[in-house]
Amino acid sequence: MSSARSRLPGWARTGARRAADAVLGPVLGSVAGGRRTDRVAITFDDGPDASTTAPLLDLLEQEGVHCTFFLLVRQAEQHPDLVRAIRDRGHEIALHGIDHRPLTSWRHTDAVRMLRDARHRLEVLTGAPVTRYRPPYGKQTPASWVAARRAGLEVVVWSADAADWVDRPATEVAATATERLRGGGILLLHERVEPGPAGEPVSTSFDRVAMARQVLHDVTARGWSPVTVAELVRDGGARRTAWFGH
Ligand SMILES: [Zn+2]
Repeated sequence: MSSARSRLPGWARTGARRAADAVLGPVLGSVAGGRRTDRVAITFDDGPDASTTAPLLDLLEQEGVHCTFFLLVRQAEQHPDLVRAIRDRGHEIALHGIDHRPLTSWRHTDAVRMLRDARHRLEVLTGAPVTRYRPPYGKQTPASWVAARRAGLEVVVWSADAADWVDRPATEVAATATERLRGGGILLLHERVEPGPAGEPVSTSFDRVAMARQVLHDVTARGWSPVTVAELVRDGGARRTAWFGH
């Protein structure tokens, strides 16, 4: 994508990002990690999914791991039993929208209304407060960030993206995940994948449960404890970034 920042050389981009975060992070910050580097948060977007969620929950139970699931209300209302299963197994449920339209395509007041409605509908299914939100595609402007805050939601982005919408062997996807992850980071994975930002269909055939198993193995081998976002940022330990223009 083209933005002024993405055309800068790498060193300048890093410097510009640091400067922007120092100024804007505390006031317009999205959660991108935690300060404790002995743990990482594993997150799954776009679910629940009729074929992936149940075996994924079995794997996580076997491994004794809790994750954060950013759910789409449209999917959640089709599979309320899976939403309850995610909750009952002790995972964190967060919001990813009603559908997967980017938040930046909504008028501000409509975005606030949609997010409040989405939050309410997910809370009806979970019976518990929903306080965290990840914008579809990570697309965000200062105005859409404010819309999320007005809907009572904290924005959570990621620090490592496994690129698990590209169809390749599960072991390769897992290798990308752990290459990009650092201690204290937030890993973006998917239970299922919505079409891309231009509406292009995404089709993958690799085993997402096998991918998750390999990621957990690699994460543990590197000495990190996999946790939920809530656990990662507990006691004010969030790292915030001014995440705009993605
Ligand atoms: Zn998504």
